[in-house]
Amino acid sequence: MKVCIVGTGYVGLVTGACFADMGNSVWCIDVDEEKVNNLKSGVLPIYEPGLEEIVKKNVGGDRLHFSTDLKQGIDSALFCFITVGTPPNDDGSVNLSYVFDVARSIGQYLEHYLVIVNKSTVPVGTEEKVREIIRQELTARGKAGLEFDVVSNPEFLKEGVAVEDFMRPDRVIIGTDNVRTAEIMKQLYEPFMRNQHPILVMDIKSAEIAKYAANAMLATRISFMNELARLCDKVGGDITCVRAGMGTDRRIGMQFLHAGIGYGGSCFPKDILELINTGKKNGIEMEIAAAVHRVNERQKYYLVDMIKKRFGENLTGKKFGVWGLAFKPQTDDIREAPAIIIIPALVNMGASITAFDPEAMEQTKKVLVPYASQIQYVDNMMDAVNDADALILITEWRQFRQPDFIDMKNRMKQGVIFDGRNQYAPSQMKEDGFEYYCIGRNGNVK
Ligand code: NAD
Repeated sequence: MKVCIVGTGYVGLVTGACFADMGNSVWCIDVDEEKVNNLKSGVLPIYEPGLEEIVKKNVGGDRLHFSTDLKQGIDSALFCFITVGTPPNDDGSVNLSYVFDVARSIGQYLEHYLVIVNKSTVPVGTEEKVREIIRQELTARGKAGLEFDVVSNPEFLKEGVAVEDFMRPDRVIIGTDNVRTAEIMKQLYEPFMRNQHPILVMDIKSAEIAKYAANAMLATRISFMNELARLCDKVGGDITCVRAGMGTDRRIGMQFLHAGIGYGGSCFPKDILELINTGKKNGIEMEIAAAVHRVNERQKYYLVDMIKKRFGENLTGKKFGVWGLAFKPQTDDIREAPAIIIIPALVNMGASITAFDPEAMEQTKKVLVPYASQIQYVDNMMDAVNDADALILITEWRQFRQPDFIDMKNRMKQGVIFDGRNQYAPSQMKEDGFEYYCIGRNGNVK
């Protein structure tokens, strides 16, 4: 089957590569010419484990193609996936202009029956707008009778394990009111569902809402744990013990119950805001989502507040080593990453930073340009702690779990660690002579 994917970013490239890997002929389209040219010459725009291998394999097998030409992409295709970004506007509402641009272009080029699949995360009611835009373009071309369908197929992959998630999804949601389209979509996804996980066919609005609901639920668990962590720090208690006490209840489960320095990334923050916005537009106050967002905003500054308390508000002459910049491990994505808030906050107080991340340093350099004179990037994690007044652990990359603490201590000016991801045991840190600050386990240490 010929599949066209419009928007070759984290979701589009993974989706395209995985469909090609199952034998489909895939055209990945993007407006970013440089990205397309790089992909044509084998250079991937993102770091995602396992992606490069399947991209190369399927380009080599002539099943995966890259182009800026949407007309070529949809020519004789049965499916056209929309996987463009849906970033937040300044007021937190979602910016749907990229999705609508694609819809307009599809309407301008469409010549045959096509299933248009919206995989971008979009608020309820977007499918109707996409359908309307395409219909208007067809009418303007005198082709109002041309048949097409618009399906909602939200994506649930996680950056860092995106290929694995796409290849073996927990579920695939198909939002459509057309039985025939549901069957065609099921055929396309059947090779990915050999694990017996379900394909859930439902009405379009439920499919659109389900994506926001899932992200909001996960974010709620995180914010809830972060709030409890503050309580533990205040009254004495260990959030990791609390987590074990809660999570072993099978009704609750252990996942997404880690306290930390708040959720980030390109999805949770914007999706929570849009859920609040959708509620507002429809006269429903999304009180839980609003609280989740508030707690998260505050949590991003938890480490900064601890650092201020320990070193004062004037950090001139203080040097901090930073481990981890990406919003989570196994990705180079720094969108809404805590590091992007914490580092500028410290630099604004006069600190200088030496940072290390295995994958996200190039992206960070581009974003933190205004702070560049105070930030040094190093290629080795241990070099980040040289002469440092403290180490700040922001992203829990695996290689940070068991560092050589003796070597670290010798390199640092002061043996102080601010651990935003609870990677070390407070008792061990005390034994090794570190002054250790973490999240929700500080009450017990002192
Ligand atoms: P991204 O920013 O990585 O990629 C979007 C791509 O679309 C870019 O390459 C951009 O150049 C391209 N684009 C923009 N306008 C275009 C147009 N008119 N024609 C062709 N290409 C165009 O975005 P992403 O992270 O892949 O997210 C895409 C969507 O998927 C968003 O709605 C997001 O919320 C959702 N989503 C993301 C993830 C994730 O982990 N990143 C997971 C699930 C869902």
